[in-house]
Amino acid sequence: MAGERWIEETLHPHWRVALRASEVLCEVETDHQRLVIFANPTWGTVMMLDGICQLTTADEFIYHEMLAHVPLMLLEEPRRVLVIGGGDGGVLREVLKHPSVAKATMCEIDRTVVDMALRYFPEVPGKVFDDPRADVVIADGLAYLDATSERFDCIIVDSSEPVGPSAVLHTRDFFAACKRALKSGGMLVTQNGLPFMAPDHLAGTTRVLASLFKRVAPYLCAQPCYFGGPFALNLATNAEAALAVNAKLLAKRQKKRAIAGLRYWTPAVHTGAFALPAYTEAVVTDAITAARAGDTSGYLEPGAEKPKLAKAKSAARKALKGAGKGSM
Ligand code: SAM
Repeated sequence: MAGERWIEETLHPHWRVALRASEVLCEVETDHQRLVIFANPTWGTVMMLDGICQLTTADEFIYHEMLAHVPLMLLEEPRRVLVIGGGDGGVLREVLKHPSVAKATMCEIDRTVVDMALRYFPEVPGKVFDDPRADVVIADGLAYLDATSERFDCIIVDSSEPVGPSAVLHTRDFFAACKRALKSGGMLVTQNGLPFMAPDHLAGTTRVLASLFKRVAPYLCAQPCYFGGPFALNLATNAEAALAVNAKLLAKRQKKRAIAGLRYWTPAVHTGAFALPAYTEAVVTDAITAARAGDTSGYLEPGAEKPKLAKAKSAARKALKGAGKGSM
């Protein structure tokens, strides 16, 4: 079909996934990254940043529900929430389903992501940015944390992969800043990549979180468009008791908060998500042991992009530059 392209995800150095772009809706170099939004018959509207799939309208509910409702259902009365990244508004949408939340700030570095989300997949943010409780800040997440005197019950890090502007959101400095901005008993949750494809990403973040918090509890969700197996989210807190919430109490809280119509999160899925397969459990256990023994090194230190990821990023640029010239 004329104008049809296949757009490749170039995250992994030795394999790629290509998606048919029945129509390319937006393709820009923003101040921070390369943004491409296109239509695909299977996935709906797809957003890629620097050649990495961020969101599809077909399955975004999975990641957004698990990133928001797992920590917020564990908290008795979450009132003040911070979302870092998440410019598409999907996590903020789920956060504001909790009636106790008085104010939720979304700190996103790239205004263009927010604008293009509203233009090309408005069903994801819906009307969330009109909610008087929503507070949108366009800034780098670490800079915002270093500048704010506010304290939060929950910080949710909906970052992209540890490349480009998002690299800093996977560092020790950043997670230490998150800890400083949490109220006592508060919870931090961050996206943590694909354990099967990048165990060192999970290990690095778990080491840092284990060196900063009493409890670290990674959990998994099955996100179809994050190609490469189960996707990890990592939760950290000093409120150990809060983690011991069973499915019965979760169901009671969901009912009391009148949160209906969820398509992935359920009390059983919530508790089951913390059951890790043996190969992932081993990575997490080793990381926590290493941290307790003093190895608190993170996956990425500021400015040090892992070579393979840098190669993937330049490959993405080259690939997209070559688009239409029969190179893909
Ligand atoms: N679910 C996706 C994933 O796991 O790959 C992430 C989706 S969300 C769109 C990622 C957002 O983080 C993007 O909008 C990006 O612009 C934003 N972001 C990247 N670096 C950032 C930073 N340093 N501070 C704040 N937001 C950042």
